[in-house]
Amino acid sequence: MRLRKSTAAVASVFALALTATACGSDDGGSDGGDGGSEGLTIGIKYDQPGLGLQNADNEFTGFDVDIATYVAGELGVEPEDITWKQAQSPERENMLKNGDVDFIVATYSITDERKQEVSFAGPYFVAQQDLLIRAGESVENTDAINDLNLCSVAGSTSAQKIQDNFAEDVNLQEFGGYSECLTGLENGAVDALTTDNTILAGYAAQAEHQGKFELAGLDLGLENYGIGLPKDDTELQEKINAALEKMFEDGAWAEAVEKNLGPAGFETPDAPEITEGS
Ligand code: GLU
Repeated sequence: MRLRKSTAAVASVFALALTATACGSDDGGSDGGDGGSEGLTIGIKYDQPGLGLQNADNEFTGFDVDIATYVAGELGVEPEDITWKQAQSPERENMLKNGDVDFIVATYSITDERKQEVSFAGPYFVAQQDLLIRAGESVENTDAINDLNLCSVAGSTSAQKIQDNFAEDVNLQEFGGYSECLTGLENGAVDALTTDNTILAGYAAQAEHQGKFELAGLDLGLENYGIGLPKDDTELQEKINAALEKMFEDGAWAEAVEKNLGPAGFETPDAPEITEGS
């Protein structure tokens, strides 16, 4: 196993557990191949600029990618030994249950409902739900959401929250991924897209969307991003929590926020308090 100097000590402590984790994934027979027995298979989003985005050269960028890469490093895994796998919102619980991935870093909110099926480490970021609308339009308040053709993604917290808390009469269309909602917003098929402000601001800031979209600025509730784990894997949970704490403390977390979310207009907040597993 190749190790960076700074992670060698930590990695040796974790080596045993890591082998077990990686084998678990291999046993599932679907770790994507080149991760190998020393690698990790990590679920991320492929279509969320600033968070998890696949580019034309099959490279991955974004805040979730940087979080995952740092955590993997603390577990003794080099970036080249990470196998990325797309984890769309409705698939995440099943991917963890089936052993398709070792863990998931994909704008994955910690909720009690999900904790019936999976466990989380973190949180590592707190986002806020909002709406993305066409530039120049407005949605005055949460009541006005009832009059919209609204788009969201199946299996996300966003759709459910809107219906439960704000607009039970809303005409909600649910798609498999956010990029499909964005196409609908652009061509007029939908009036707004609802999800986390991180995701929405990332789309609005993309070069090809300049001047097209804006956030409505509604506060539809907080979303605590956790790293999704197989249920009750407390050993992995502790290790990942420790990695996140280190990332918060050594400045790498703030750097990752600034680099990935800064261009979309986010100021770097204080790091959140780790609550899972304690
Ligand atoms: N954070 C929310 C969730 O986990 C919405 C974003 C997403 O679909 O990933 O459901």
